[in-house]
Amino acid sequence: MQTLQHLSKHIVYLTPVQETDRPILGAVIGNKKTLIIDAGNSVQHARLFQAELHKHDITGDLLALTHSHWDHVFGLEHIGIPVICHEKTYHHIKAMQPLSWEDPALDQRVEEGTEIPFCADAIKLELGKNREITLPLPDILFDEKLTIDLGDITCVIEHIGGDHAKDSCIIYVPEEKTLFLGDCFYANLYAEKWNYTAEQASLLVKKLEAYDADTYILSHHDKPCTKQEMEAEFTLMKQCANAVVEHRGNKAKIEQELAKEANRELTEHELETIGFFVNGY
Ligand SMILES: [Zn+2]
Repeated sequence: MQTLQHLSKHIVYLTPVQETDRPILGAVIGNKKTLIIDAGNSVQHARLFQAELHKHDITGDLLALTHSHWDHVFGLEHIGIPVICHEKTYHHIKAMQPLSWEDPALDQRVEEGTEIPFCADAIKLELGKNREITLPLPDILFDEKLTIDLGDITCVIEHIGGDHAKDSCIIYVPEEKTLFLGDCFYANLYAEKWNYTAEQASLLVKKLEAYDADTYILSHHDKPCTKQEMEAEFTLMKQCANAVVEHRGNKAKIEQELAKEANRELTEHELETIGFFVNGY
């Protein structure tokens, strides 16, 4: 059951769904305008968010995309308001326009390695039999950074990149000290093995640490992360990035070093993160 969460007077979001890979959809509400964050993974998803917003008299005026992965853009057909995105995102959407999402085409792309089973399964589950996807092209493109004045509330959309997707953008709301991370903090899933690279991860953490934020919204996390939680994540990423290079991808040695530093057994999440760095080495 997806519900609309009120983070503050100016920020609401619709909770994610793991099974069908529905990401969080957000709305930043200013005195003049409202910015919607991401289009959703289907027309149904986009429609649900719109209906939930309407219940609270919120209407979107503009929409910004965090990146071009299917689960963030398949709802575009239903949007009908100006869409903002990074140039790379625009080109990816354009490249997706002629693709078929029917079983044979999806299965073939999984076979070729241009699609991954994780996404193909979620697409089948979310869309059911109707796989006619229309992807209207976004209206407003930017290269590095774009600032939107919503009326006493500002949104800074910035290209950040990283392992997950080269076109990843974040949306920062300085007045609320809130940072929408999209999927930028997640691993590269479009690879044989899910992975982080030491170089990209270090760069990403450095960029993210520059933002003065108290609340971080990761698109597939059930709840926003606090400053403290994100600081722990940044530390883990930096430790892994250093250790994977130092120990030349030797998993056992990296685990040993991190457990020694923490002076306790490593958590599932820490072990998984180390594994992703080893995969990317
Ligand atoms: Zn993604």
